[in-house]
Amino acid sequence: MSDTTTKRVIRAAHGNQLTCKNWVSEAAYRMIQNNLDPEVAERPEDLVVYGGIGKAARNWEAFDKILECLKNLEEDETLMVQSGKPVGVLRSHKNAPRVLIANSNLVGRWATWEHFRELEAKGLMMYGQMTAGSWIYIGSQGIVQGTYETYLSLANIHYGGTLKGTLNVTAGLGGMGGAQPLAITMNEGVCLAAEMEEWRIQKRIETRYLDKYTHNIDESIDWALEAKAKGEAVSIGVCCNVVDLLQRLIDRNITPDTLTDQTSAHDELIGYFPEGMSVLEANVLREKNKEEYMSRSLDTMARHVKEMLELQRRGAITFDYGNNLRGQAHDKRHIDNAFDFPGFVPAYIRPLFCEGKGPFRWVALSGDPEDIYATDKALMELFPDNVGLHRWLKMARERIAFQGLPARICWLGMGDREKAGLLFNEMVKDGRVKAPIVIGRDHLDTGSVASPNRETEAMKDGSDAVADWPILNALINTAGGASWVSFHHGGGVGMGYSLHAGMVIVADGTADAEERLRRVLHNDPAMGVIRHADAGYDIAIDTANKFGLMI
Ligand code: NAD
Repeated sequence: MSDTTTKRVIRAAHGNQLTCKNWVSEAAYRMIQNNLDPEVAERPEDLVVYGGIGKAARNWEAFDKILECLKNLEEDETLMVQSGKPVGVLRSHKNAPRVLIANSNLVGRWATWEHFRELEAKGLMMYGQMTAGSWIYIGSQGIVQGTYETYLSLANIHYGGTLKGTLNVTAGLGGMGGAQPLAITMNEGVCLAAEMEEWRIQKRIETRYLDKYTHNIDESIDWALEAKAKGEAVSIGVCCNVVDLLQRLIDRNITPDTLTDQTSAHDELIGYFPEGMSVLEANVLREKNKEEYMSRSLDTMARHVKEMLELQRRGAITFDYGNNLRGQAHDKRHIDNAFDFPGFVPAYIRPLFCEGKGPFRWVALSGDPEDIYATDKALMELFPDNVGLHRWLKMARERIAFQGLPARICWLGMGDREKAGLLFNEMVKDGRVKAPIVIGRDHLDTGSVASPNRETEAMKDGSDAVADWPILNALINTAGGASWVSFHHGGGVGMGYSLHAGMVIVADGTADAEERLRRVLHNDPAMGVIRHADAGYDIAIDTANKFGLMI
């Protein structure tokens, strides 16, 4: 619900003037605001950053109070945040995190959307998604690299390294899903994406993530086929319900080369549109009759999964993109074979996790894009032989518009994250960048998440649902002195399906920061290597040996 009294436009300050008492608090102060920058957040007026209802703070009062606490926070204090509300400032020390965050956590037996919504309605909780409630969301760029890596891995396995001449169908152009068209065209393929809400499509066009769109399904398919035939990398949006697009492909006997989905299917009330109604009608029904809405939404998901299974049967390389669509259709609509198509992690990402690789990202607190370009250049010099990294950084500079504070993301593994972090700290120290750099990552990472339908699907030793690992990850990052550490429930796949930890660390150019970076950027990916080595993956065991990790 929008609060009419709070039509506020939030933007993080740029430059090197401190509002808080030190750069670590200042970083948190700017990053929570950056999460709500209109260029970054999906619905800033509701404090919603991305992923359905993923919020940065519980309500505006809590948001204001967090800012006030951060402004006054001393170097030996830590702010405690419970589901987006600041609940206390406690004693710590200068190398401890300045903020500790727990979002949406519920005891197992009560870990359902129903119970969460009761608590949310009473104002007792908020949904933190992954980087929304932990203040390190950087707009759609954050997911572009992950999506690019996924499609590149797919292209390497199935198409000799490029998607040129392939038709890639998907849906959902929201905060995360909006990255799909760009990631696909960066891999030289054609993207055809269904999206119900026109404003989302327009937003992707404005940020240059999507090339063109239409309301006419047949026209969109014709455009896509033409581009595929010419081997052109074009992305096409079609404003319709995904089930109507897939049905039309089936009826016209057209089988996409690849097929996936990024609607917010993990949340049947807020994240997914039932078929047979306009956005307006759906919004009215959601307000008037939640139960009916959710029931229709789940029915549509069942149909959606059946259509995906049919297209898979016809030859489309089909995979779930981490929104729990299969889980919803399986658990709530008895589509017994929903899991016949794999999740993207076991299919394409796990080998990277075994090397401690994951979505490393950084943000220039100066607000100056030149600082990011300076870090791009320095990283290329630091890793001269990493061809994939060079290709990505060049394309990112050319094709990705910054949203909010300038930021960059790339997948780096064990060893390299530490080197990069120390390099950035040096750059702050010697003035190659104009203000400190904030380093963080997604919770979707090598050692920080238990999510049996996504990151930990089909683990070799069957440990998919073991959530000790992300807890250990949060604890060691706290012990190592990350700047803020978070532990969340339900991100990505919804309540009851995941537990995950986040960390952010600030390179402010000081000797203390150097020591913290050395610890945290070693330990954080190391937890991923250890987790996968423990599950019996050879690549992880080799990586652990290479880095002398005691396992
Ligand atoms: P979002 O809520 O911002 O966007 C979802 C979009 O789907 C909206 O634009 C909505 O209009 C559209 N949509 C919903 N139902 C539709 C339908 N039936 N037909 C066509 N369009 C429909 O969410 P987001 O941040 O883009 O995330 C999407 C999903 O992906 C979430 O479930 C999220 O948890 C998941 N996710 C996956 C990854 C990953 O790495 N694979 C990472 C983050 C999030």
